Amino acid sequence: MQRIVFTGANLLDGAGEARPRTNIVVEDDRISAIEEGPVAARPGDRTVDLAGKTLMPGLITCHFHSTYHDLSVLPAPLGLERPPGYLTLAAAANLRTALYCGYTSVVSAGGIGNDIDPQCKLAIEDGLIEGPRLIAGGRGLDVPSGYSDSESWWWEFTNHGAHQMCSGPESFRAAVREEVKRGVEIIKIFPGGGHGSERPHTGVSLTQAELEAVCEAAHSRGARVRAHAPAKDSILASIRAGVDIIDHGDELDQECIELMVRTGTFLVPSMFFTDQLLKQSEGFGAGLPSQMAPLAGGFEQIRKMLPVAQEAGVRILVGDDFGVDFLSHGRYAEELEFYVEKVGISCSDVIRWATCNGAELMGLGDDLGGIRVGRLADLLVVDGDPSQDIALLQDAARLKAIIKGGVFHKDEL
Ligand SMILES: [Zn+2]
Repeated sequence: MQRIVFTGANLLDGAGEARPRTNIVVEDDRISAIEEGPVAARPGDRTVDLAGKTLMPGLITCHFHSTYHDLSVLPAPLGLERPPGYLTLAAAANLRTALYCGYTSVVSAGGIGNDIDPQCKLAIEDGLIEGPRLIAGGRGLDVPSGYSDSESWWWEFTNHGAHQMCSGPESFRAAVREEVKRGVEIIKIFPGGGHGSERPHTGVSLTQAELEAVCEAAHSRGARVRAHAPAKDSILASIRAGVDIIDHGDELDQECIELMVRTGTFLVPSMFFTDQLLKQSEGFGAGLPSQMAPLAGGFEQIRKMLPVAQEAGVRILVGDDFGVDFLSHGRYAEELEFYVEKVGISCSDVIRWATCNGAELMGLGDDLGGIRVGRLADLLVVDGDPSQDIALLQDAARLKAIIKGGVFHKDEL
């Protein structure tokens, strides 16, 4: 493959301060040199002057529902709202959208039946469709009458859509093994209610033995576990059982933070969804409906605690429920600006969440997330400096190049 020599770039590593006027060489799928001084040219090199532009790692979103497409907040029944072929095409389109928004990796947040994520991953790897690196998710595991078992009880489906109901540790173990066999790499469970639903916000619907069985069965097969856990009791129970990601964490407090730091558990705050949902609800007039009060309370709680969690060293990730009717796919980078403008996190910390932290979750911390010699060349070229103005990442016209594994998916250089 032709060697690419980027010269004079503002190098944004994801881990530290920007380094101006740096030269970076990409050879095959990896970064082969980073130099302050000139790079000796070789015949056949493609040299690209990046004066005024930033070279940064590809973004990584860690809460991604590939099949979500114009969902309302309470879809019925999730995963069967369209036929499987349609949902697969929607997933392919959404994955391509993510790549073209600068997200070179995505980690599924589940809620996806019919093995659509594993199939999309195969198709991406085989070059049939364009998309990011994908950690595939599958059906969410829950207990009967749990958070995701809110469909009308008289419906009987032979196709279980996006969720599978289990009871008892052995039942959860069997479900995890089946999901992993079908190509799922991250298991989603629903121990807590709240966040986007009117279901009760407290109480842990899985027993501790069930939570531990899920983690044991998944981890022994190299899969990760993520827990929908907005309320404090479900956050603590999930961390103690060994889950890898707490999703939402609306009732995050000092005790949760201390436990997360000790265990290294990742947190996906996914606050942008709540922000947009509350805005939409207010937009109907007559103020916020009373049933939304717990959601608004949780939003204020995590808004207050997220800077504390960041300061304490919690590993925070970006990603959210894009694909609902008021928050479409493609708006991903608005989330990054939200954390800067509305929560008071610095641009460079949010960029670290969206690069280094995501790579660590993927188990690819030595390959992705930063720009170092020997790492995979998943790179963006941005007109301007996103570490000064993170909103630049929302402007497709400023994303001059999107590179995954040394291959250009967008090239306007
Ligand atoms: Zn979600």
